[in-house]
Amino acid sequence: MTERREAGQEVAACRTMQELHNRYQLATQTYSRAVDALNARIGAVKGDEYYFLRQIVDDARARSEEARNEFDRHIAEHGC
Ligand SMILES: [Zn+2]
Repeated sequence: MTERREAGQEVAACRTMQELHNRYQLATQTYSRAVDALNARIGAVKGDEYYFLRQIVDDARARSEEARNEFDRHIAEHGC
């Protein structure tokens, strides 16, 4: 008895992987926008406001790194 699943089923991208990838892309876009916003205001903001913007950039970077780690981890674990 040969029971073979359609090859296409395995090849089709894993949904979780796609979702994690979308999340990673979004997080990366958010991060790069935050960097642009910070760069555009460099020199115009000072003290607390600059610190506040830096914080937003740092948070966005941390989130995009986290999203990438999740994406990588899923691929490593799932083998998709
Ligand atoms: Zn997967």
